[in-house]
Amino acid sequence: MEKTTDAHTSQWRIVDHDVIKPGTRGIVFNEPLIFENGKPGRTGCDIPQSEFPKRNLTAHFDPALLRHRVEGLAEVSEPEAVRHYTRLSQWNYGLDGGFYPLGSCTMKYNPKVNETVARLEGFTGLHPLQEPQTAQGALRVIYELERMLCEIVGMETASLQPAAGAQGELAGIMLVRAYHTEKGNPRKKIILPDSAHGTNPASAALCDYQSVPMQSGPDGLIDLAALEKLMDEETAALMLTNPNTLGIFEKNIKQVCEIVHKKGGLVYGDGANTNAIMGKTRFGDMGIDVCHLNLHKTFSTPHGGGGPGSGPVLAKGILAPYMPVPRVTLENGRYALDWNQPKSIGALTAYFGNFGVYLRAYAYILSMGPQGLNDVSDAAVLNANYILAKLKDHYHVPYNNTCMHECVLSDKLQQEHHVSTLDIAKALIDRGFHPPTIYFPLIVKGAMMIEPTETETMETMDMFIDSMREIAELAKTDPDAVTKSPTLAKVKRLDETQAARSPDLRHRS
Ligand SMILES: *Cc1c(COP(=O)(O)O)cnc(C)c1O
Repeated sequence: MEKTTDAHTSQWRIVDHDVIKPGTRGIVFNEPLIFENGKPGRTGCDIPQSEFPKRNLTAHFDPALLRHRVEGLAEVSEPEAVRHYTRLSQWNYGLDGGFYPLGSCTMKYNPKVNETVARLEGFTGLHPLQEPQTAQGALRVIYELERMLCEIVGMETASLQPAAGAQGELAGIMLVRAYHTEKGNPRKKIILPDSAHGTNPASAALCDYQSVPMQSGPDGLIDLAALEKLMDEETAALMLTNPNTLGIFEKNIKQVCEIVHKKGGLVYGDGANTNAIMGKTRFGDMGIDVCHLNLHKTFSTPHGGGGPGSGPVLAKGILAPYMPVPRVTLENGRYALDWNQPKSIGALTAYFGNFGVYLRAYAYILSMGPQGLNDVSDAAVLNANYILAKLKDHYHVPYNNTCMHECVLSDKLQQEHHVSTLDIAKALIDRGFHPPTIYFPLIVKGAMMIEPTETETMETMDMFIDSMREIAELAKTDPDAVTKSPTLAKVKRLDETQAARSPDLRHRS
């Protein structure tokens, strides 16, 4: 490799003439379970002697219910406890550690200022049952964030309640059902292009709709003729993802919406990928009636560990009467809660949803400003196209388009050497990268879906590209070197089915 001398970033090191990519060498401690650490009787703190006389509990409780010794708790010192958890945290791969190009997930770096805002005591000390007049600031955040998001996607009404993208979709389809029901017929079907996200059909099914799959055209876009044929007066809605899961923008979206509207249906837009189009175009302007956003993707909240998310549902005015309660209202400078919405689909979460996520999104939007959000889309799309351009001679590109915020490759060329997408993903781990999304979208055999996001530097992307090229080359010259990856990771190839079905929680590596 020639690029070694002008090490692009401090993460590059030359050891024995070998370029070491981030995270592939160095001190990695073994760590037993915490129960296997420490010694009987060891503690991390001293509790002062009680000033009260000892009482015999058997006088008050059935002796059979009393335990004299608590079995099975870890007995460790404070440093042992701290080191144990610190080491475990270092085994974890996170955004603060490195590149995480997981397509469809928008694993972008989350600015720390958001965390500072989310930790302000005035917010963290609030109780959700507090009287609205004592929580005006928090209600203002909800109200203003709803307005800002409406502005970004061109909708008229919003509710932040849904706790994830998938729940936002569910809420959106519940709105669709409420709308059609009031018109006299809830209708029976929802059309779903095969380029839609996997949670879309699940949302349709949960609302008692039958999913009608629709094949994409050869260009990866919705086939207008096919849609025209499928769309009828028993179809409640078309659910689409735009940009779709191939990372392609539905350029005929206006005609798509017209075809659906002509038959009285509504269009649902999955807006989880809004980081590709913010400030450029708006769902509302395209003719989409209802959509959700993923605050934990586009609007920068750490996610991926199953932590709290937020998938606000946003809609045109025709759906406003059905929106979830309570609504946050503003009258005469006072924020209040309105539960009196007789047509509402009801409350979707306890209290107000994941408020901490709202604070992060609010801080993010304010700190970026309109121009900043616009720049995000530029950089997200540019970065994905950069990777696509640099890899297209090394990997098969199933849909040869300019992509939006993510690009899709496949293992077709490597399959000739019996190297698969899974092998390539594992080989990336040895090179210090989190693998991209693999085997999704389903319409591409052996798919690799790469979303670099706007927060990555060219140097980081170049390291990734070099690794991907090196793996493609190895697949030809020494395929075993790829298929036996990872060799440097703490655990090697796992039987992933077995790992999910019967996890061995006592395994020590
Ligand atoms: C992530 C994603 C979802 C689901 O969002 P969750 O918050 O994980 O429920 C839905 N659609 C698309 C396109 C996504 O990328």
